[in-house]
Amino acid sequence: MAALDATQPAQVDTTKNSNVSTEGYDRKCIFCKIVNKEMETELLHCDEEMSCFKDIRPGAPHHYLVVPTKHVGNCKSLSKEHVPLVQRMVELGKEILQKNNVTDLSDVRFGFHWPPFCSVTHLHLHILAPASQMGFMSRLVYRLNSYWFITADQLIELLTSKEETNISPSISTSPCFLTLRRILNAQKTVEMIVDFRKVTAPLPPLALMDSPITIADSFRFLGTTITRDLKWEPTISSLIKKAQQRMFFLWQLRKLKLPPRMLAQFYTAIIESILTSSITVWYAGATVRDRLRLQRVVRAAEKVIGCRLPSIQDLYISRTRRRAGRRLRSIRTKTSRYMNSFFPSAIRLLNTK
Ligand SMILES: [Zn+2]
Ligand SMILES: [Zn+2]
Repeated sequence: MAALDATQPAQVDTTKNSNVSTEGYDRKCIFCKIVNKEMETELLHCDEEMSCFKDIRPGAPHHYLVVPTKHVGNCKSLSKEHVPLVQRMVELGKEILQKNNVTDLSDVRFGFHWPPFCSVTHLHLHILAPASQMGFMSRLVYRLNSYWFITADQLIELLTSKEETNISPSISTSPCFLTLRRILNAQKTVEMIVDFRKVTAPLPPLALMDSPITIADSFRFLGTTITRDLKWEPTISSLIKKAQQRMFFLWQLRKLKLPPRMLAQFYTAIIESILTSSITVWYAGATVRDRLRLQRVVRAAEKVIGCRLPSIQDLYISRTRRRAGRRLRSIRTKTSRYMNSFFPSAIRLLNTK
């Protein structure tokens, strides 16, 4: 991608604009040279603010570059004040297209390469038309929703949101954040609202690249179902169901007359491990009914094997205490939901050792 923009091999701007004079001229910048007519490149437009010329390696029948006449860094360095500049760059691009008899402006790609994928640091807008006639390589190089190319509309949206959302510019413009925005495909993303305010005003809908995001009541995380009301019935129900399915094998093994010691081993490895998965997270918040349901599975296994098995409550206590060696400061809680959540309940348990 390096040589795509420039007439010469890409230059790496290691000097961080130290070459830029007060007149906005960077003597190491190829685009500064072009707009100052030091190169042989033909300028299709040139005024104090903006210049336009053809891309040396066209990616479509029409491929123009619009650049500010004075050196402006790449799109990562822009802020909200640059929105009008970007908008005027797009306007000039449209004028140039019309002068060159491109009438279908819906089939045009306007956009910027995202650092570090721009070979020239001088801000430049790529205009490709007709977008439908771009070849395989150009489709890749100027690919929509990639982490190396951002459309003019997306850049304007990003710059506009910079101040409003108050995300620090380094985060909101980092390639990571942009990649995240793109990985977070609106069709595949759901939102779960956990809201325990007394008066709940509906929140404005969340949108990702203009597509609204569906609101979900629960999601699964590492085998645990987290619901919007932070209750654990769904998790416990699914664990019990799985454990009961595996009880069938315990029955089969007893029919084969395995000694109780081996049956107990099978139970610990195959059934108990299911009943206690992520137990430290949910047990303290489980309802009495759910605790009884769990214990019923243990009791059923005890009957099959014919010996006592550790209760779920004991397992919870021993697992939570396992790594603790000292008293911890209790967390103040106002609601029982919070009191029964992982950290406060674990701390209480550790302190009562
Ligand atoms: Zn420049
Ligand atoms: Zn470029």
